[in-house]
Amino acid sequence: MPRPEIGKWGRRFPAQILSLVAFNGYFWRGGGKYLCLPVLNCYACPIGTVACPIGSLTAFALARRIPFYILGFLGLIGLAVGRAFCGWTCPFGFFQDLLYRIRSFKFRLPRAANALKYALLVVLALGLPLILAGGKRAGSEERITSEQSGALDYCSLVCPVGTLEGGVPVLAASAEVRAQASWRTWSKIGIAAAILGLAVVARRSFCRALCPLGALMALTSRVSVTQLHTEDKLCTRCMRCVKVCPTVARHLPFKEFRTEAGAECVLCLDCVRNCPEKGALSARFAGKTISVSEGKSRE
Ligand code: SF4
Ligand code: SF4
Repeated sequence: MPRPEIGKWGRRFPAQILSLVAFNGYFWRGGGKYLCLPVLNCYACPIGTVACPIGSLTAFALARRIPFYILGFLGLIGLAVGRAFCGWTCPFGFFQDLLYRIRSFKFRLPRAANALKYALLVVLALGLPLILAGGKRAGSEERITSEQSGALDYCSLVCPVGTLEGGVPVLAASAEVRAQASWRTWSKIGIAAAILGLAVVARRSFCRALCPLGALMALTSRVSVTQLHTEDKLCTRCMRCVKVCPTVARHLPFKEFRTEAGAECVLCLDCVRNCPEKGALSARFAGKTISVSEGKSRE
């Protein structure tokens, strides 16, 4: 496996800044809690402007109802652009991109780690809430809450976004809240710290191994109408696209081994932007080229 490299950020950087502002209620309050976009932004947190798909799916599992709207809407987005929201708009993805720029020892997580996020989606985001809840509370119209089911779900146990956006600011602001914090609160802070530390040394490690939303959207990557295309006659097999790929989605560029856009591809287009051969690598939407290597990155 070639050594990982950070390539040119290009237009992805301003897009990530814009989305950070758009999804953050500290800057504006858009009242978009009914909108479920494929970005991790804590649903319960007052500063989140849209609904978090994972928090919403868990709420549906607790209520034992089928989330037609969430699955249908995310499915349509996935079919159109795969995991592009992970690459271009998810604030936590952007945060990881920033952390990876800190000078330190770097390594790539093994590909086997990718499977962990599917287990987190099936077990913690959906399975346990579904088993432990039971729909409406007996004799009441109220739905069972995460706390009443034992809070054994992804949001309550793992999610670093909820911890950073909601938990840490509240704890930092109030000694009273700190005094009441349980071992679960501190364990979540420990998990968030470990995830942030891992993001410094292993690029987009959370997206690859621990994000249940990434797992959900990865199911659409291979069938999305937005795909990468390598022009075999122009590709020199220099491996630059493999080295700059943040999620180790880009495999060997040789035709017989190539996977143009596997489940881990977040359509960040770093590979296209950094390919040194003009026209060798492109991204296509429904067969139409939307981005093509310009050959300006030769080193
Ligand atoms: S960076 Fe471009 S030329 Fe180099 S291997 Fe990848 S597609 Fe081929
Ligand atoms: S294959 Fe290309 S577009 Fe996909 S994640 Fe890797 S660098 Fe980004």
